[in-house]
Formats: sequence, structure tokens, C-alpha cells
Amino acid sequence: MDLGTMTAQLERLRSDALDAVATAADPAALDAAQLAFLGRKGAITELLRGIGRLPAEDRPRMGAVGNEVREAVEAAVSERSRDLRGAALIARLAAEAVDVTTPGRRIARGTRHPIAETIAAIDEVFGRFGFVVYEGPEVEDDVTNFQMLNIPADHPARDLWDTLYVDIPDHLLRTHTSPGQIRVMRETRPPIRALLPGRCFRYEAVDASHGFEFFQVEGLMVDEGTSLADLKGLLEEFGHALFGVGRATRFRPGYYPFTEPSVAFDVGCVVCDGSGCPACGRTGWMTILGAGMVHPVVLRNGGIDPERYQGFAFGMGVERIAMLRHGVHDLRLFMENDLRFLEQFR
Ligand SMILES: [Zn+2]
Repeated sequence: MDLGTMTAQLERLRSDALDAVATAADPAALDAAQLAFLGRKGAITELLRGIGRLPAEDRPRMGAVGNEVREAVEAAVSERSRDLRGAALIARLAAEAVDVTTPGRRIARGTRHPIAETIAAIDEVFGRFGFVVYEGPEVEDDVTNFQMLNIPADHPARDLWDTLYVDIPDHLLRTHTSPGQIRVMRETRPPIRALLPGRCFRYEAVDASHGFEFFQVEGLMVDEGTSLADLKGLLEEFGHALFGVGRATRFRPGYYPFTEPSVAFDVGCVVCDGSGCPACGRTGWMTILGAGMVHPVVLRNGGIDPERYQGFAFGMGVERIAMLRHGVHDLRLFMENDLRFLEQFR
């Protein structure tokens, strides 16, 4: 083979090799093309082995052309390899792309139970007046639940609280949140502004307006010079905050053994707005809580001198308040945990 023929063949191989490299569709095809031309048995490698058979004076020239072709093909291979990697990366990014405009999946969120929500609303109103929440035990002793509250063992008022006793002597499930008054008076010193929300229990037949388990919120204020006028002003604010500014309110005489005098606090019926309807027994009024000035005996039982300090207390049924706020007619619904009911209070 002479120099001219060999150069022509090499140029053809260069052209074939560059075509094969340029059209390699993926890294495997590129490897195959590289092997076919530049590998140990590749076409260019084989051809250049023939240099040794050229006349001696032609060998350097052919060697230089051979190197130039080899380098050109190698450069084309690395460039194609970079392009293929770039294309693969772009394809992967496209496959993994996130459409940030896709609407999200809604997370199923729970809601506050209407009783918990009502307690929070009550706490919030009295919190504005400096009342602080305390919690007492649900299993209470007879002395604190009854006797300290001026309800002796043989007092007829005990009929008001049909009691669930527990297997510990002289202990019971608290029938009201009022024993918390004694605990707060004994644990703190006046001035006292305490709010006592909690679960209470009575041995009672269950119907639309009675449960054997229910919630109360008790309030207690003790300070020098505390008066019934303070109590009235506070409860009027409370009635307006929960049932609307301008709603009619009134106080009636009431009776509780642990307050003297005692009052019942009414707001204008939330159903008929005072004109009289079946919901309010055609009176136009709904009683929302009982209250009164703390009986001196109870203050003394709490370790407070009734000659120096006066106090008032109030207590309300949370279910009743929640029923009035939300127009619910059966308090059993609050305890049944039926989501169709509870989800209405979003
Ligand atoms: Zn009414």
C-alpha cells in the first residue's frame, strides 16, 4: 500500500467514524462506535498498523496524519459523550419535574368539640376580667364536695345532687365544680379570681336535658369589698359577650346552700328574643347560671376571714350554654361522638 491509498482510506475512516459518533443515540452506541474505530481491533487502529510497510520516508508523514485523525475522533467521542449525558440529565429532570400549580390535597382537619369550644369561649370572657383557670379532681371527698360547702350530711339540699359514690370510703364523683372553691381558697390568698371548668357526675336518668356526666364552669371571686353589684356587672358582661350585646338580662332570687343571697341569672330567650315560645316555656327568659355571695361559713371553711373578705361565686352548665349558642335541642348529641353532628361546628 502506498501513501496516497492509505491517506485516502484513513480520510474515509475519519468521515465514517465522525458520522457514527455523531449519530450514536445513547452511551452504549457511542462505546460501540469508539471500539469499532479506535479499539485494539478497530478500523483506524488496524489501518495504522500498516504504516510499518510504507517506505521509510513516508512513515513520519503518515504517522502525523494518523495521530491527527485519532485525536479528532477521540475529541468527537468526548463531545458526544458530554451531549448525551446532558440530554439524559434533562430527560431525568423532566421526568421528575413537579407541577407547582397542581392544587394540593386537602388535609382532613379535626375540629374542637362544641363543649370544649364553649368552655374556651367562657374562659376567654372571664379571662378579660382577670379570672385564672384552676382544675380540681373529678374524684372528690364527701367533706369538700358537700360539708365544706355548707351542705351537712343530713341537709335536705343533698337531694339536689344524686351522687355516684366510688369504692373509697367517703369519696365520690364530684357532683358539681363547687368543691373547687374550697380548694382554691385553701391554696391561694385573696384577691382571688378563679375559674373552675370541669366534668361532673350525677346518678340521673338521661334525657334531652339531663346527663349522668356533664360539664360545669364555676367562678369565684374573693376580695375586700366584693359586692353583689360586682357580680351583677360581671354576669351582664358575660351574657352580652356570649349571647349578643343588648340582649336582655335579669336576676331572680335563687337558693344554694353555699351562697347567701343566691340568684339565678337569665338572658332573653335566644329563640324568640323575649316574646315567648315553647323553648323558653313562653316566659321569654332562659336561665343560664346560678350565683350568689359566698356564704360566710364557706369562706371560713376555705380559711378566709369573712369579717374582712367577701366573695361571690357562680356556676353554669356548659351543655346548656352550648345548646343555646348553637340551637341544639338534645344534650345527648354532645356525648355520642357522631361525626355528622360534630363536623357542623367548623
Ligand atoms: Zn323563647
